Amino acid sequence: MAAMSSTDSSPSALKLSTQDLYRLLEPITVPSHSPRARFTNWGLSFTCKPLAVFEPENDYQCELILELARREGKVLRAVGVGHSPSDLACTNGFMLRATKMNHILEVNVEKRYVIAQAGITLNDLHRELAKNNLAMSNVGSISEQTLAGVITTGTHGSGIEYKVLSDSVLALTLLVADGSRVTCSRNENADLFIATLCGLGSTGVILSIQFEVEPAYRLKEEQESVPFDEFVSNMDTLVHSAEHARFWWFPTSDTVRCSYSNRTSEPRNPAGSWLWHSFLGHHVVQLLLFVARFFTFLNPLIANFACWLVSEKTVGVDDSHRIFNVDCRYPQHTTEWAIPLKHSQACLRELRAWLEQEHADPHGIRPHFPIEIRVSASDDIWLSPSNDITLFSSLKCDPLRPYGFNVPYRRLFEGYEAIVAKYEGRPHWAKAHKLRPDTLRKMYPRFDDFVRIIESVDPQGIFRNDYVQRHIMGRPIDTRVYKQRRD
Ligand SMILES: Cc1cc2nc3c(=O)[nH]c(=O)nc-3n(C[C@H](O)[C@H](O)[C@H](O)COP(=O)(O)OP(=O)(O)OC[C@H]3O[C@@H](n4cnc5c(N)ncnc54)[C@H](O)[C@@H]3O)c2cc1C
Repeated sequence: MAAMSSTDSSPSALKLSTQDLYRLLEPITVPSHSPRARFTNWGLSFTCKPLAVFEPENDYQCELILELARREGKVLRAVGVGHSPSDLACTNGFMLRATKMNHILEVNVEKRYVIAQAGITLNDLHRELAKNNLAMSNVGSISEQTLAGVITTGTHGSGIEYKVLSDSVLALTLLVADGSRVTCSRNENADLFIATLCGLGSTGVILSIQFEVEPAYRLKEEQESVPFDEFVSNMDTLVHSAEHARFWWFPTSDTVRCSYSNRTSEPRNPAGSWLWHSFLGHHVVQLLLFVARFFTFLNPLIANFACWLVSEKTVGVDDSHRIFNVDCRYPQHTTEWAIPLKHSQACLRELRAWLEQEHADPHGIRPHFPIEIRVSASDDIWLSPSNDITLFSSLKCDPLRPYGFNVPYRRLFEGYEAIVAKYEGRPHWAKAHKLRPDTLRKMYPRFDDFVRIIESVDPQGIFRNDYVQRHIMGRPIDTRVYKQRRD
């Protein structure tokens, strides 16, 4: 793919009249009557109608957008595909949707890196890398997200020796608030680089990313189910027993589905069948969950059914990203917290005791979904949930929303968050949470360094949307301001 780029002959954005800015931006401005003029996240939980949505294809157009935002005194929020299950990407100001900035700029097979525009999706990246017999070293549960979206939120996969995906960034080009393009890496503008790696879109617009990759590989995944007690007692060993180990705990059936993946030279041999995974696991379960919205007592039965569907021991071999990715099904509410691995066993036992109590209570919570448990290595990225933790495990619960309809989740999240917070838990930045700077500052030793950087590169706060103002700057902004449902 060839990248569209600005030319040296393009007039500097600073020198253009505001009228010319509007004229030049017109072709990439989403018409206000278009459905794309409204932004709604993938989980259908948060929505906003920005003053204008721009879809640039090159760096120069991003400069024009920024200049317009500066002159009009508007917040500018760069977004990817809106997979963050919070209002992290929302704004009532200007929105820069980066999804047309999706070209590969360079592939270096020998030195094992790729340079791509920031809005490329991981799916497109996998495809382009495969042509060069390369692959990402680690991937999370899906590949729909943009590379910039993944990086700025500290997105992680699972693997005791694998860090968050941002750790593979070698360098990036950033458009900062004064309109200049800045290249940063660990050797050049290092503080800005580290801040941007989990920067929540608040350091500037990421234009392109140099990303470390490895020769393409297949993974052999073995899955089996074990009782909860056996899993928790052996957790220390189990998390080390594969390059990429991850787990799904079904509280209602007291069972943990374990997945162990290792690099292999065996030929492709995917596990699973359409009937089992797509028809029963996806469509039938969705229909049952819809019914359970009216008869909540059905939820544990459905969870047990879903657990039974995946109870067999399976072995599959496939291209790495196909094994890393799972079917995340339909919209969902999500909360996810990272806790130090040393606390995982105690935390999981306390979560189980609480859910058992709920189950015994006729009016108690009836979760229908598994809680996902993943592990990662520590990193030095200031706001990364795994910053300065030797090893961490992340515990995620996702009440699924059949056909996009709402399901109760607030009591569940409150109980869950109260427990994980006790174990030095840190929330995933992309997912809704209620923490404010006074708490976050204690969790993150470099929190104030992060604030210092964003205040120095963006003194006017052009890149600080309501999420950043609320959680990082401590402004009293309601968490439900962009909520899809107001109740
Ligand atoms: C089904 C599902 C599965 C998921 N699986 C995982 C997982 O396995 N592991 C995990 O850790 N997380 C996971 N997530 C979270 C997801 O990886 C993050 O929310 C990610 O940010 C989504 O990317 P996006 O392109 O949708 O970004 P958006 O949600 O659109 O934006 C996220 C952030 O990126 C910033 N941003 C986007 N583009 C730019 C740019 N060009 N310059 C500057 N900032 C930019 C935005 O300002 C915003 O702060 C999952 C989410 C969903 C819905």
